[in-house]
Amino acid sequence: MSGSVVVAGLGPGDSLLVTPEVQRALDNATDILGYIPYVARIAARPGLNLHPSDNREELHRARHALELARQGRHAVIVSSGDPGVFAMASALFEALESGDYDTNTDIRILPGITAMLAAAARAGAPLGHDFCVINLSDNLKPWSVVEQRLRMAARGDFAMAFYNPRSKSRPHQFAHVLEILREECESQRLVIFARAVSTPDETVRTVTLAQATPDMADMRTVVIVGNSLTRQVGRWVYTPRSVVVPASAP
Ligand code: SAH
Repeated sequence: MSGSVVVAGLGPGDSLLVTPEVQRALDNATDILGYIPYVARIAARPGLNLHPSDNREELHRARHALELARQGRHAVIVSSGDPGVFAMASALFEALESGDYDTNTDIRILPGITAMLAAAARAGAPLGHDFCVINLSDNLKPWSVVEQRLRMAARGDFAMAFYNPRSKSRPHQFAHVLEILREECESQRLVIFARAVSTPDETVRTVTLAQATPDMADMRTVVIVGNSLTRQVGRWVYTPRSVVVPASAP
């Protein structure tokens, strides 16, 4: 019997945002692997082995899944949001590149709703024109790269979404991100702090760049910064689809 590895995105939190495709893979799994809080979202059932592991164990977890597949088992690695966005899908291919496993292993990557899309939908349509996405963690890249990409994105007038804006081990960097944005953008630029979207703890708050403070973000927050045309209509925030500002009615 040949085994398989699925890397599946569980969405931002609400079970209604788990796709039917992902649910089917979970139902057919023999083994579920992932970071402890993500595995905790999976209902136990007879015959299903749960393998929760620590945040920093990503490569080890990927190798474990490939090993299980070699033994004929159906392993599902779960990520929050989408597995290809700062998550386990790349780690699996890194493990596959080691040469220790058969590159013809039955592997499937199943998309999920990533945090910025769930957050953008709550706010309105802040990502309605060109945008870019930056992971503010410097765990896997030097901080100078984060700074440079941030500046270039702001100068390109992209709307921006930031993942991992702030953590206990990096409490000061987000203040520096706000400083860079203040150098590059006007003070009325809209900034959305969307925390724990689609969970009971959800909060979504829109402020101007002048009002934004570092404590508005934590590790459960995705931050969206509008482009120079992003504006409010009623309680909504949206970015027009073109850079041509429509002529106002006479
Ligand atoms: N693969 C995930 C991202 C993992 S990185 C995805 O596609 O969503 C972890 C970061 O994602 C967090 O620091 C936070 O910035 C963001 N995030 C994940 N879930 C979130 C949620 N429900 N609400 C707001 N931000 C979230």
